Amino acid sequence: MAASDSTLVDKPSTFDLDHCVHCGLCLNACPTYRELGVEMDSPRGRVYQMVQVSTGTAAISDSYIEHIDLCLACRACETACPSGVEYGRLVEAARAEIENNVRRPWPARLLRNLVFARLLPSRTALRLAGLGMLVNQKLGIRKLLRGRLAELDALAPAVETPFFYRYYGKTLPAEGEPRYHVALLGGCIANISFARLNEATVRVLRKNGCDVTIPHAQTCCGALHVHAGRREEARELARRNIDALAEGRYDAIITNAAGCGSTLKEYDELLEHNGEYAGKARQFSTQVKDITEFLASIELNPKMNELPITVTYQDSCHLAHGQKIRAAPRKLLRAIPGLIVKEMALADHCCGSAGIYNILHTDMSMSLLEKKMDRVRDTHAEVIATANPGCMLQLEAGIRKFGGATRVAHVVELLDEAYRSSSR
Ligand code: SF4
Ligand code: SF4
Repeated sequence: MAASDSTLVDKPSTFDLDHCVHCGLCLNACPTYRELGVEMDSPRGRVYQMVQVSTGTAAISDSYIEHIDLCLACRACETACPSGVEYGRLVEAARAEIENNVRRPWPARLLRNLVFARLLPSRTALRLAGLGMLVNQKLGIRKLLRGRLAELDALAPAVETPFFYRYYGKTLPAEGEPRYHVALLGGCIANISFARLNEATVRVLRKNGCDVTIPHAQTCCGALHVHAGRREEARELARRNIDALAEGRYDAIITNAAGCGSTLKEYDELLEHNGEYAGKARQFSTQVKDITEFLASIELNPKMNELPITVTYQDSCHLAHGQKIRAAPRKLLRAIPGLIVKEMALADHCCGSAGIYNILHTDMSMSLLEKKMDRVRDTHAEVIATANPGCMLQLEAGIRKFGGATRVAHVVELLDEAYRSSSR
């Protein structure tokens, strides 16, 4: 841990909490409140509980932890709030306070340490996990699973080989005259389960005049750690990523995962008290661009063939509410010849994925997913487009479980399909 981080107290600030005027205008935007109708599972109720804890009126009780844990951190309440309450920041700080003060039962501690401290930050561990999952896939062991294990397995990503790691340390040149030099962050699990998406992202960037560097020393962005309240580990990962990209001069740092992008854009906040890294983090964060944001901001290569499909777009929470990006992915979809966009109702309502929420709170997650798939079905679209691998997994599970469309694709994969069909 950097010495300058050690003075931090990670908990909701009373200054931020005081912005809430208890008007309740956020309630209808909140998925957990809409499902349960319980005030303590609404944004206003959760802010109230945070105030109680921060003033010492209430302790960090099991009930408090349950209500904070059940929040999807989707930040829809932030969009709805007229008083500018930065709810995402508050709930992340509340989770950090819980993490730092409450000793969870040992099985939960063991699992969390394995996932957050051993698996996600380690390329070797992820590779080994990927190979294990591959063996499982090939031997068909998953077909033997029953009950809760089968339910969890249905939400797990499939492994795609070869892993995207083979591109690490390389720069892939632009097709034609180079216009930009960008760095691509490959994610953590995405390297083993979304290699096709990362490869499509590289191809589309190269088609659009980008030299694409995949920095070798990059690591997991720390988003899942932040959401789980493990901010010190997230800070360590942030410093590693900042160092990994320090040598290059990039026009943009690109991510195709909205959940990662939200956290990468908030490295400045994560490291604001670190004398050595605060400035570097500010610069890093301003360079981060979601792939849809970047492509929509440049002159798009128009040489695409027709893609005669009907698509409905699901806003990823961390793109729409976290990064306030809604128009860019829609603009890109509409730029594809032949592609028809049909908007679904409540497209910016959470699909229930929310990082590992679908594994921890499967009933709530499935209930939200079922409603999402009903709205997809109403559009009669064949394809659900979105901009976050986590949402893609959840929506794919939704198609298998509830029907409603034939496939899920990232916006950049649809662009790639249109470019590739034009070059055949
Ligand atoms: S979070 Fe915002 S919208 Fe919700 S009750 Fe507080 S002030 Fe009102
Ligand atoms: S982040 Fe989402 S689930 Fe949590 S309180 Fe806000 S709207 Fe509700």
